[in-house]
Amino acid sequence: MLLAALAPLVVLVSSARGEARIPVRLDPVSGPVLSAPQLLPALEARASMGAGWAEVVVAGKSFRFYLDAALLAVDGEVYPLVGSAVVRRDTLLLPIQFVTEILPRTLAGRFRYDARLARLTDGAPAVVAARAPARDPNRLPNGLRKGHVVTIDAGHGGVDPGNPGLYFPDGLREKDVTLDLSLLLRDELRRRGVGVVMTRQTDTLIDLRQRGGYCTAECDLFVSIHVNSLPRRAGFSRIRGFETYFLAEAKTEDAARVARMENEAIRFEGSEDSAEPGGGLEFILKDLQLNEHLRESARAAELVQSYLQEAHTGPDLGVKQAGFMVLTTARRPAILIETGFSTNAEDAKLLTGHASQKNLAASIADAIVSYLLEYERKVGQGPVSATSITGTTRQ
Ligand SMILES: [Zn+2]
Repeated sequence: MLLAALAPLVVLVSSARGEARIPVRLDPVSGPVLSAPQLLPALEARASMGAGWAEVVVAGKSFRFYLDAALLAVDGEVYPLVGSAVVRRDTLLLPIQFVTEILPRTLAGRFRYDARLARLTDGAPAVVAARAPARDPNRLPNGLRKGHVVTIDAGHGGVDPGNPGLYFPDGLREKDVTLDLSLLLRDELRRRGVGVVMTRQTDTLIDLRQRGGYCTAECDLFVSIHVNSLPRRAGFSRIRGFETYFLAEAKTEDAARVARMENEAIRFEGSEDSAEPGGGLEFILKDLQLNEHLRESARAAELVQSYLQEAHTGPDLGVKQAGFMVLTTARRPAILIETGFSTNAEDAKLLTGHASQKNLAASIADAIVSYLLEYERKVGQGPVSATSITGTTRQ
């Protein structure tokens, strides 16, 4: 019996192709699970989905999981599982038992699992390796192609403190916490082989309209990090949770409020035309209706929300859309994460504790890696193309 408490935090998949670290996620229904988009490339496996089932093929052998039922069919035999395969936000999650027991048992000649090291060793014999695609020197052990770059934008800074951080300790304000989280996210991404450009690394103000310019043609994704807050009114301090935005016209009054609050920073910025962002913003929003990056941005936002559930103790407030100035200038897929509420004591504690900050950053980094893997597959495994929008002007 595999108990959730005994599940490792990370499973290593070690093979002649390299070593991949697959984070173990805890699904509220299924227990410890591994994300198929992360696991399968490491096994050179593929998956297909049907109504109520998911089939994974490893080394020519078919494993048919029944979704939401803890059963697995292999070679016409049905095995009971401790937890079921599930789909959460379009991502297939497989019970960890697949790696710890099923593969070593059914493909004993190829797989060995060491529970002490939480390591699955894939000893693919030479003949199998010869038929498999040659190891690509441009690919990282986690399956990603080398050379991805993500721009991280720590919200606010310098004379713009962001929100006052009502429940933050030690006089910390939003700009301090966004910087902490952004620096940790930078480290987590680099550890995963993803290049990072920061809009700021110190307590300094960068014009909202220039931040997107840090995400150039080589940049895969622009990620702006913020902390939400609510004005004082009855029950305001009870609201907590995390939400991720992509740029489009606001659909709800609350989304519009958050965008207005984040766009406020424009008043700290010197130039004459900065007082009236409205007209320009509307124009850019219309332009972006045709923008192919919207779908990518929405998908990245979904994955961030999905992965943050592991590290965040507050509710998942979902993917939202609104007109953020900072996102209008990024000519690549762009998202803005409101990581929690400084006006809620529990969120404030989560956002300022070092261990929980690290967990949040690691989850966001995992989500970004998932997004990049998905994007690579969508464009046919080829190098990620830096499609630019015609008529791009920056600054
Ligand atoms: Zn903010």
